[in-house]
Amino acid sequence: MLVLCLVAFACTPEPKHTPIANTKILVILAHPDDETAVAPVLAKYAGDHDVYLALATDGRYGYREHAGIPKGDSLVAVRKKEAECSCRAMGIHPPILLGFHDGSGMVTGIGEYFRQTEAMREKVKSTIAEIDPGMIITFGPDGDTGHLDHRGIGDITTEVVLREGWYEKYPVFYIGWTKDKLVSLPQNDAVNTADESYLNIRIPYSQAEEEKLYAVIKCHKSQFSPSETTDWIETEKKDTVNVAYFRQLTLDTRVRGDF
Ligand SMILES: [Zn+2]
Repeated sequence: MLVLCLVAFACTPEPKHTPIANTKILVILAHPDDETAVAPVLAKYAGDHDVYLALATDGRYGYREHAGIPKGDSLVAVRKKEAECSCRAMGIHPPILLGFHDGSGMVTGIGEYFRQTEAMREKVKSTIAEIDPGMIITFGPDGDTGHLDHRGIGDITTEVVLREGWYEKYPVFYIGWTKDKLVSLPQNDAVNTADESYLNIRIPYSQAEEEKLYAVIKCHKSQFSPSETTDWIETEKKDTVNVAYFRQLTLDTRVRGDF
């Protein structure tokens, strides 16, 4: 491949493979319960890595009828406990709760949205700098379920890494799905996907690690009713492939004068 590149000159460089430079993995997601998207992988790496989960929003608007917990501070308190339960189940550090509102203030208007997303950018930046991880995991442009907060936090995390010149220092990996993976989320039957060829990082996990996901789902009682919890776990059990897909943010940094 190297020889071909020298001859052809303009060939696309191989994506840089950066092994995890230190033992810390920082996962940056939007809501308490988003970690269900990667729970078996985090459980797997928890064995010999320091895994940190940062959650941008406090989930204050995630009202579900079965739980009957009103929107606002009481729901925030419950979801904090649920996130802690989930991190314990995966064997990772307690959650880092950035404390922004779901929807980044869109509920109260575009002005508040700009204020909150700017503050979120600074908080994401300081969290990355403080943890100083070997790599970052976040949502890709598909946003998992497509929730605007999922797209938003993946976007802001990417923005911070690009803005600070952290591309090589903090390799970013996007969570992705290759097919219409069935889930039992209240508002979705399936999650968003990317073409399989673009999701070249495929992390296998064990049945024991998948069972940590079941425990994580059970932690989020305010979000998933008993029947939704059972349905979701049954759906996961039918998926016997046990592989999670990711894509690394890969940039071509050679300066040139045409497209
Ligand atoms: Zn979410």
